[in-house]
Amino acid sequence: MASIDHATLTLAERLHATAAIATVVAIETLSTSLVEVTLRVDPHLVGAPGSDVMVDVGRGRTLRRRYSVRRADPSASTLTLWVGVDHEGPGVAWVRDVAPGDEVVAIGPRGKITLDPAASWNLFCGDLSALGAFSRMVEAIEPGRRALVALEVDALDDARSPAPPEGVDLRLVLAERAGRAPSDPAGLSRALATLELPPGPGHAFLFGEFHVVRALRALLADRGLAETAISHKAYWRAGRANADHGEPDKSEPA
Ligand SMILES: Cc1cc2nc3c(=O)[nH]c(=O)nc-3n(C[C@H](O)[C@H](O)[C@H](O)COP(=O)(O)OP(=O)(O)OC[C@H]3O[C@@H](n4cnc5c(N)ncnc54)[C@H](O)[C@@H]3O)c2cc1C
Repeated sequence: MASIDHATLTLAERLHATAAIATVVAIETLSTSLVEVTLRVDPHLVGAPGSDVMVDVGRGRTLRRRYSVRRADPSASTLTLWVGVDHEGPGVAWVRDVAPGDEVVAIGPRGKITLDPAASWNLFCGDLSALGAFSRMVEAIEPGRRALVALEVDALDDARSPAPPEGVDLRLVLAERAGRAPSDPAGLSRALATLELPPGPGHAFLFGEFHVVRALRALLADRGLAETAISHKAYWRAGRANADHGEPDKSEPA
């Protein structure tokens, strides 16, 4: 049975978040590389669209991994995570091993990036690790606004379109990685080039691999998007495991 230690409680307090024991309700393989994990947990962990939870996937030692909340069902006190499993790591091992009824320590809500209420259009650009966050965010956009999504996948069956509310215009462009290195921004750069940025105030969300996010930021700045209109977050880094607290290494390459 999971238990919450003092260090976890202290961390949650410092992060202005809640630490709680979550129970695994269901695990479902959605596609080649995507697994859906549903947890029953204190609804305080859910947060706004764009937020994530930090799950302790270590066995015998604390090792945290962050996963965006894909969907929340307050009436059932559940939240759903979409986890990419096309690599080897403790997070993937956890997802492969857990079963309904298992408990895990979680901290949430985490993350500061959410929808910009002033934006008449929203651009989402990233890889499979971002699909849960993008889907929940697109589904929370107010009618009359637009969503542009550029998504890079290895396997085409991993691609899933968010279901925006009626009145939200969605344009989805897929980029197939086709064997290129995960740090290669060429696929998403080409996808972005096919998307015309609509007039009016807009906001871009860039989540995914460290080098790719960095390259996409520069591309959008070149297209005239202000720094304040770009929210970006490196979720992981090619060739390097995330640290035990869940963040990727953000040091500059030597
Ligand atoms: C705020 C935040 C939200 C996130 N939300 C999600 C989410 O909703 N769904 C999700 O799947 N991930 C999400 N991530 C990314 C996820 O936390 C990391 O990918 C994490 O490193 C996976 O842990 P791991 O133990 O499986 O692999 P690690 O131990 O971190 O890495 C092991 C190896 O696998 C590689 N690797 C790590 N992640 C990936 C990947 N996604 N694709 C290909 N290779 C990889 C690394 O480069 C390394 O070589 C999020 C990260 C952050 C910071």
